[in-house]
Amino acid sequence: MKMNILSGGELQMKKHIYVPDTEDRLETIEIPVSCYLLRHPQGNVLFDTGCHPSIATDPAARWGGLERAMVPKHSPGQDVISELGKVGLQPEDIDLVINSHLHTDHCGCNEFFINASFFAHQKELETARASEIDGNGYFRADWDHATSFEAITAQKDVFNDGRIILIPLPGHTAGMMCALVNLDRDGAFFLASDAVSLKINLDEEMVPKNTWQGDLLLKSYDEIRKIERAGAQIICGHDAEQLAHLKRGLDGYA
Ligand SMILES: [Zn+2]
Repeated sequence: MKMNILSGGELQMKKHIYVPDTEDRLETIEIPVSCYLLRHPQGNVLFDTGCHPSIATDPAARWGGLERAMVPKHSPGQDVISELGKVGLQPEDIDLVINSHLHTDHCGCNEFFINASFFAHQKELETARASEIDGNGYFRADWDHATSFEAITAQKDVFNDGRIILIPLPGHTAGMMCALVNLDRDGAFFLASDAVSLKINLDEEMVPKNTWQGDLLLKSYDEIRKIERAGAQIICGHDAEQLAHLKRGLDGYA
């Protein structure tokens, strides 16, 4: 199985959202949005789909006021659809989309994967469906399509061979789901999504402000540290510094 890290956009946010003790309330950080292509012998899997392509040019049309808190910094074409093209794939080639959760920067391109099945955690689907009006990062345009989701309720080995194991780890949201990926050559990677937004959050037991339930996030950190001690590399959801040291695009892992 091969893994490619693909860009799903780039956002600027207030640093104190992720690092609450930041003194300068106006200080900003740029956070990458990543999607992960997993080419398994039984099918092409995409873990998260990033921001919708229109976010690069007209974020207010899709996000309304949220675009002032999450300011897009990427150029047009920096989205998972274009990125898939760089590795020689079309959206139609994706067989399974796994959404770590349903915030707009993780499922914005779902609509393009017309041949795929979709997995999300049951509690995430309930939360998104209960959002009467779009808000708190959930937008129906991202996830509410004709294709139905398979609702995940517990740890799941996607192909029953230990290569992609989905692990629910609530805290950031109610239905946050991470993936433990086992590669033959390069070893184990833990795709944390926003269960660990920045490495410093895990290392210093720091609860970002955009957290649904901090006590559950801290419990999830405990689980993730066990996974890290067992030898997996933790890939954070939005850590620019970490991402700079990882292979991206066509240059992937196997
Ligand atoms: Zn996110």
